[in-house]
Amino acid sequence: MAETPQGQGHETLSNLLQESRRFPPPADLAAHANATAGTYEAADTDRLGFWEEQARRLTWDRPWDTVLEWNPPFAKWFTGGTLNAAVNCLDRHVEAGRGDRVAYYWEGEPGDTRTITYAQLTDEVCKASNALIELGVAKGDRVAIYMPMIPETVVAMLACARIGAVHMVVFGGFSADALGTRLDDSEAKVVITADGGYRRGKASSLKPAVDEAVADRPAIEHVLVVRRTGQAVDWTDGRDVWWHDTVGRQSTEHAAEAHDAEHPLYIMYTSGTTAKPKGILHTTGGYLTQVAFTHWAVFDLKPETDIFWTAADIGWVTGHSYIVYGPLCNGATSVMYEGTPDTPHKGRFWEIVEKYRVSIAYMAPTAIRTFMKWGEDIPAGFDMSSLRVLGSVGEPINPEAYTWYRKNIGGDRTPVVDTWWQTETGAIMVSPLPGVTAGKPGAAMRPIPGIVADVVDEEAKSVPDGGGGFIVVREPWPSMLRGIWGDPQRYQDTYWSRFEGLYFPGDGAKRDEDGDIWLLGRVDDVMLVSGHNISTTEVESALVSHPKVAEAAVVGASDPVTGQGIVAFVILRGEAGDGGDGLVKELRDHVSASLGPIAKPRQIMVVPELPKTRSGKIMRRLLRDVAENRRLGDVTTLTDSAVMDVIAAKLPEAK
Ligand code: ATP
Ligand code: MG
Repeated sequence: MAETPQGQGHETLSNLLQESRRFPPPADLAAHANATAGTYEAADTDRLGFWEEQARRLTWDRPWDTVLEWNPPFAKWFTGGTLNAAVNCLDRHVEAGRGDRVAYYWEGEPGDTRTITYAQLTDEVCKASNALIELGVAKGDRVAIYMPMIPETVVAMLACARIGAVHMVVFGGFSADALGTRLDDSEAKVVITADGGYRRGKASSLKPAVDEAVADRPAIEHVLVVRRTGQAVDWTDGRDVWWHDTVGRQSTEHAAEAHDAEHPLYIMYTSGTTAKPKGILHTTGGYLTQVAFTHWAVFDLKPETDIFWTAADIGWVTGHSYIVYGPLCNGATSVMYEGTPDTPHKGRFWEIVEKYRVSIAYMAPTAIRTFMKWGEDIPAGFDMSSLRVLGSVGEPINPEAYTWYRKNIGGDRTPVVDTWWQTETGAIMVSPLPGVTAGKPGAAMRPIPGIVADVVDEEAKSVPDGGGGFIVVREPWPSMLRGIWGDPQRYQDTYWSRFEGLYFPGDGAKRDEDGDIWLLGRVDDVMLVSGHNISTTEVESALVSHPKVAEAAVVGASDPVTGQGIVAFVILRGEAGDGGDGLVKELRDHVSASLGPIAKPRQIMVVPELPKTRSGKIMRRLLRDVAENRRLGDVTTLTDSAVMDVIAAKLPEAK
C-alpha cells in the first residue's frame, strides 16, 4: 500500500481495493443504445444547451425564458416556463394515441393483480384531482400520503401534482410519531392513507397510526382512506372519507392548469439516519427533465418494448423518480409490487421477472446480498432471459455482490448500472451508461452527461487518479433540491458550507487509476486507523469477496493503540453453514491479503442479521455503540430493533 504523504493521512481516504474485472457493453445493446459517446460530447460542448434539449422531452404549455438562474446556492431552472407534471406523465401519452399502453402491471403480495393502462390511470387521476378540490385542497397546499404499494398511491401523487398541491409521501412502515413530525413540519392539510396493506403474508394496518398522529393535530382537515385489506377501522365522521365514495363518484374530466417550472412538486423527508429529518423540496420542470433523461439514458429504456421494474418502495425517492415520474414521463410500462421478496417464497422476485418478462430491473444492494445469502439455486429455478439491464441503488455495491447479480440474475449477459444519487439530488448523478461503459464491479464510474461531479480533498482540490476524498458537485443540476422545507439556513449549512461554492453530499469517494469514481459510503462512517482514513465499504467488500460471506458491516471502534480498531460483523452464506473452525482467522487473513495489513479487522463477529434502516441501509452507528460497549442510540428507524439484542448478546463470546 502506498505511503500517505505526511499531514494528509488524517484527511484523505486511503485507496485500498483493487478490481481488475471489466464487463464491456453487449454488442447488440451498444449498437442500439439510447445514450452514446456522443451524448457525453454534446453535454460537454454546451451543458446548458444540452439540458434544454432534454427539457424538450416534456410538453410545456409555455417555453422557458431562461435555462438557469443561479444565485448560489439557490438555483432556478427553466424560468418562465409552465407545464403540468400529471399531463406530462399521462394525458399527453393518451392524446398521442398510446392510451391503451399498460402503465403498471401491479402485483399484490397475496397474488392479486391489476393491469392499468395510461388511459385508465389518466381517468383515475382526474377523478382524484376533483375529489381533492372538493375536500378543500388548493394549489400550494401540502398533502401527506401514507400508503402501501398500491396503484392509488401513484394516483394520489399525480392528483396532487395535477392541481398544484405538494405531496409529501411518508413510508408506510414509519410510526405514528414519525408521521406526526412530518405532518407538523410540512403543515399538511389532508392525509391520504389506506386501511392497511399486505406485508410478510398478512394484512398490516395503516389507519390506526394515522388516527393517532391526527388526533391532536386539528390542522388535518380530512383523511382520505383507500380500502385495501378490508380490515376494521375506527372512523371519525366529518374528518374521514372513503376513497371509493369520494373519488369514486367524481367526473373523469379535469382541465389541468399549467404550473410554473419552479412550482413545488413534492417534499420528501430523508430517512433520518442522522438528525431531525430534512424536508427535501423538489420542483417541477427541472426535476422532470432529469428524471426523464436519466431513466431513458441510464436504463436504455425503449418504451415500446421494455418492461421496467424498480423494486423499491414509493416512500423513498427511488420510488418517486423511478417508479412514478421517470417511467411515466417516458411512457414506459412498469411493474409495481406490493410486498416482500420472500413472501410466499424466496423466489418471489424472480417469479415476477418471469411472469411479466421484465427487461430492466432496479434494486438495492441490501436485497442483492440477501439473495446471495439465500443461494443461487433460487433464481436458477426461473426463466429470466428477458432481462437486459440491471441497476443498483442505495449503498455502494460490493464488487462480489455486483458479479453475483450479473451472473445469477443477469445470466452473465446484462450490464449492471451502479447509480449514485440521493434524495437531495432528485435523480441519478453518477452511473455507467449501459451501451457505452465497460462496467467495473463496485464502481459508479462517471458523472452522467450534463453533471459536473468531482472527487476532492480536504482543500477542495480535485484528487489525482488513484486518490481519495469526497464527492462534490461543481455545477447546479436540473433536479437538485431547491432547499430544506422551511429552513434555508440548514440548507446552506448542510450542503454548501463544507467547501466554498461546491455541493457536498456527505459521501466519501475515490478516483481510480483510470479516473473512474467509486463511492465509499458516508463520511461519518470513515475509520481512522493508525493515521489512515479507511472506508468501511472497502473492508466490507473484501469480506464479502470471501466465498463464505454474504454480507458484512464494518465500524471503527476506539482503540488505545491505533486510534480506531476495525470491528466487523458478518452474515454467512447459506452454503457456508456455521463457517467452521478457524473462520475468524481465515476472514482476518483474507482482508489482510486483499487490502493490506492495515485493514485487518481487530475483531470479527458472525451474526444472523444486521441492523438496517427501513430503506435497507446498514446502521453502522448502532454497531459502533455495540463495539464500544455503549448504550444503544436511537433505534426507532430500524426495521427490527430485536436485531440489536441478538447482536449485543453475541458480544462477550466473540471477544
Ligand atoms: P439521511 O440523509 O437522512 O441520513 P440517506 O442518506 O440514507 O438518509 P437517501 O437520500 O435515500 O437517504 O440516500 C442517499 C445516500 O445513499 C447517498 O448519500 C449515499 O450515501 C448512498 N447511496 C445511494 N446510492 C449509492 C450508490 N450507488 N453507491 C454508493 N452509495 C450510494
Ligand atoms: Mg443522506
